[in-house]
Amino acid sequence: MKADDRAHVFHSWSAQAVIDPLAVAGAEGSWFWDYDGNRYLDFSSQLVNTNVGHQHPKVVAAIQEQAGKLCTFAPAFAIDVRSEAARLIAGRTPGDLDKIFFTNGGAEAVENAVRMARLHTGRPKVLSAYRSYHGATAAAINLTGDPRRWPSDTASAGVVHFWGPHLYRSSFHATTEAEECERALAHLEQLIAFEGPQTVAAIVLETIVGTAGVLVPPPGYLAGVREICDRHGIVFVLDEVMAGFGRTGEWFAADHWDVVPDLMTFAKGVNSGYVPLGGVAISGRIAETFAHRPYPGGLTYSGHPLACASAVATINAMEEEGVVENARRIGETVLGPGLRALADRHACIGDVRGTGVFWALELVRDRETREPLVPYNAAGEANRPMADLAAACKRRGLWPFVNMNRLHVVPPCTVTEEEAKEGLRILDEALSEAVPQ
Ligand code: PMP
Repeated sequence: MKADDRAHVFHSWSAQAVIDPLAVAGAEGSWFWDYDGNRYLDFSSQLVNTNVGHQHPKVVAAIQEQAGKLCTFAPAFAIDVRSEAARLIAGRTPGDLDKIFFTNGGAEAVENAVRMARLHTGRPKVLSAYRSYHGATAAAINLTGDPRRWPSDTASAGVVHFWGPHLYRSSFHATTEAEECERALAHLEQLIAFEGPQTVAAIVLETIVGTAGVLVPPPGYLAGVREICDRHGIVFVLDEVMAGFGRTGEWFAADHWDVVPDLMTFAKGVNSGYVPLGGVAISGRIAETFAHRPYPGGLTYSGHPLACASAVATINAMEEEGVVENARRIGETVLGPGLRALADRHACIGDVRGTGVFWALELVRDRETREPLVPYNAAGEANRPMADLAAACKRRGLWPFVNMNRLHVVPPCTVTEEEAKEGLRILDEALSEAVPQ
């Protein structure tokens, strides 16, 4: 099996000759295991998507049942599980985001949100934040603003980046959240003035930035962006692909601030990734644009029956089992206090950020200067402390999510108190071993 993988699978985000993927034998709840009998507590939720944990029996059963009834049917037809999934999603999205366009994942959701915004406004440009991740397809990778750029991805016209708020590494020399918020909004306003508001179709933002560091916006920021969009006729797109469906302790991160975007992208947690699914939740105003004029976009597998059946089962299970409440409670009572306690014990932890089961530890060489523990894009020897930390976690049976100089703490929303505490205990030991003070 491993030999076939090495010979024939071309892996994402990897140098093919260098990687040595773990051979997974099975998974259940917050755990998975390999063929050598090693068990891992999944503090990554894979790619932050298994919000209801692995192999949730109700979701597995729903997929099996749907497979027996109807495996595939084109998007133009009304299918019971498709309409039910759309109704359940629309019933939880904020405001009047009541129509659902289904995709196969997050990047396609972002691609379509951008097209809808351009068609709705007739304007070409899209603004997105540095320190963001929106996917690895044409427009989505260009919107993505992390400090990696590739020669393949310079061709998308009309994407302009701005600095979002991030007090720990403020681009605005701010020292308080209020200052950071005010200056980040003024910066965005100025950027729009220079780009020409009449040319800007959309602002695309992750509600809470995920991959680029779990950056929680200061109070007032998202409301401020909403107001800027309204004043200039710009479509406000919130990307909730990672933050949505319980991860932050609310159904959607936007619920923390009562902000309603015009379009909202989702994927991952909608069905915990059991079958590929994503989508765009569309406000009444934007849906109206396409009431009598066709939306010129679609995907063969849009609203795939197996994916929709798994979404229906996932959302129902989340309601029945209080999964969103569990994520909030674990964040408030175990992860938040536990990670702050780790920061008291380990000088390499410069910042602790997050909410629910969505946290990051930012690791530094020096708390005063905030110099990152490893430089951005570090590889090989330069990345040694982070690689050592990941290895120390794995040796102790914890599967971590490590990105640049950060350790993201993102277990399933169903994680138990005991599992969360066990994870914190392992992190404590791994930090002591890999980054000695
Ligand atoms: N948006 C955000 C905020 C994401 O975190 C991701 C995936 N990490 C995507 C979009 C892209 O989703 P996918 O990988 O399903 O295409």
